Amino acid sequence: MMTFLGRAGFLLLIGFAALSDASSAAEPQKAGYALALHGGAGDNAAKLSPEERQGREATLRKGLEIGIEILERGGASLDAVEQVIRHLEDDPHFNAGRGAVFNADGGHELDASIMDGRDKSCGAVAGVRMVKNPISLARLVMTETRHVLLAGPGADRFAKEMNVEQVEQDYFTTPFQLERFQRKAKPPAKEQDKHMGTVGCVALDRRGNLAAGTSTGGVTNKKFGRVGDSPIVGAGTYADNNTCAVSCTGVGEYFIRHAIAHDVHARMAYLDASLEGAVRHVLHETLEPNTGGLIAVDKSGRIVLDFNTVGMSRAAADSTGRYEVQLGGK
Ligand code: ASP
Repeated sequence: MMTFLGRAGFLLLIGFAALSDASSAAEPQKAGYALALHGGAGDNAAKLSPEERQGREATLRKGLEIGIEILERGGASLDAVEQVIRHLEDDPHFNAGRGAVFNADGGHELDASIMDGRDKSCGAVAGVRMVKNPISLARLVMTETRHVLLAGPGADRFAKEMNVEQVEQDYFTTPFQLERFQRKAKPPAKEQDKHMGTVGCVALDRRGNLAAGTSTGGVTNKKFGRVGDSPIVGAGTYADNNTCAVSCTGVGEYFIRHAIAHDVHARMAYLDASLEGAVRHVLHETLEPNTGGLIAVDKSGRIVLDFNTVGMSRAAADSTGRYEVQLGGK
């Protein structure tokens, strides 16, 4: 290059590069955002019908777009998480809201939680039977009560008080879940290739705030009154601005026993682990194979989507242009 430009030209070029560097450094940098969502671990994409595949993919894509739209314009991660999950709850392809699995009584009992990484405020509902969007009720528990978790008829009554949209049990029923129930699926001990379909979302907004949320109908044929990890803060959901935001999916009993979502945070906080390292440890060393997966984003916007099952429906996007939607395996 020296020969071609000559020494003067070369110095000019260096000077120009330095100048343009200085001018871009002077421009205020727009902070980035990051977003990830899941539609449940355990599924084997090869077993999905083309319609089911397309339907799931389209819903995940739309979920990403809802979140991106909020985060792109500087909206709050908490709003992105709630709105994305509402969309997934309304879609019949996933086991949350409409499309929820049946319990052993032939009914639907829904669980959800949400957490704000700014101050660890959080809200959750368990075993609700009449709430169209449990994630929004969980947020109201966080903002409108001094409690963290409301369960059963009390949670449904709170929904009424809050004028949250209520529906009959039939609203949640889909032919897909009815067929599974009628086959009398046993409560899964270790899921291999079932379409579990719990939904979750984690987000980092341009202000550096992290949030996480999870919503589910639980596991097919679960015992009436059974509560999984999804509404248990620290097990299925966790967010702390100093570390990361996490939403889990899988066999809830294992995630509760090991406080998986909190453990990802704790490994980063106390062991100085990276997000990747913390997630790898909990999914592949703490948990047994075929028990579930999780999505997580850290305070710098790194995203991890990982699972120890056959597959996990997942999607991610960020302000650098990352955009991906995947069903099934790695
Ligand atoms: N974790 C959920 C539960 O145990 C189920 C799932 O993620 O598929 O209720």
